[in-house]
Amino acid sequence: MTDNPALADTAWLDQHTLNDRQRRFVLAYLETSVAAQAAEKAGYKQPHVQGPRLLSNVVVKAAIADGRSQIEQKAMLDATKVAELWAEIATADPNELTQHIHAPCRYCHGIDHAYQWKTKREFTEAKAAAVFDLYSDDALREAAMAGQIEDARIPDDAGGYGYRLTDDPNPDCPECSGFGIEITRMADTRKLKGGARILFDGVKETKQGIEIKMQDRGKALENLAKHFGMFAGKVDAEEVSPLERLVSRLVSNENAVPVRPDPEPQDASTAPAHPLDGGADDHPAND
Ligand SMILES: [Zn+2]
Repeated sequence: MTDNPALADTAWLDQHTLNDRQRRFVLAYLETSVAAQAAEKAGYKQPHVQGPRLLSNVVVKAAIADGRSQIEQKAMLDATKVAELWAEIATADPNELTQHIHAPCRYCHGIDHAYQWKTKREFTEAKAAAVFDLYSDDALREAAMAGQIEDARIPDDAGGYGYRLTDDPNPDCPECSGFGIEITRMADTRKLKGGARILFDGVKETKQGIEIKMQDRGKALENLAKHFGMFAGKVDAEEVSPLERLVSRLVSNENAVPVRPDPEPQDASTAPAHPLDGGADDHPAND
């Protein structure tokens, strides 16, 4: 029938008292705006005569005007939806998708900065594995597990328990100097909401591991600016949109904008990479 999705639902056409051929003419005319072509498509025998005549019919004219406003409304609605989507992407927080965390190292919070275990279970398992590897004799293994053998290769729990990745690194740690270990954490993408959900553009498997793909936020912002510029021009040619005003002010007078100098490079984010760093150095830390 029609290629225009705005005309797919023709309930509005029922408001007008038209016969089937007239209905087809109205729909065809909304597509082509050529009376003779629309009349031919609608099935009139003499399209070149009937087409212009139909256009002067009051009921047909009203139906065409109604159809045009339907198309405009649909287009406006689509533009608004698209703008809303761009706004969501432009303002979404990438931190909701991936987080770069500085976790403590094993010596940060250990007693006297000795190796700290997560739990008693973790320690016992590690000790048993080490003892099994070190000795082949069952009696020796038993004695080692009971603490009756002095061997520096057997793990001990002098550093205590309670290691947690969610704690902060200890600035006084002699092992990591307070940098801790850097961990990149990915969000459970099933639980994403709002902007973050739109920002998320799937997962890519790379040689380095899994990478989260994101929509282009810069592009979204640019589209949004264009969108608002377009609307400002449409509403009133004399009126300058707030966004354009802001941009021209920024360009003409840079001093009007408070520019904060970069802080001295002394925080963790600008310090040289830690050896434990996996090589990711373009993370948006602390901003
Ligand atoms: Zn540490």
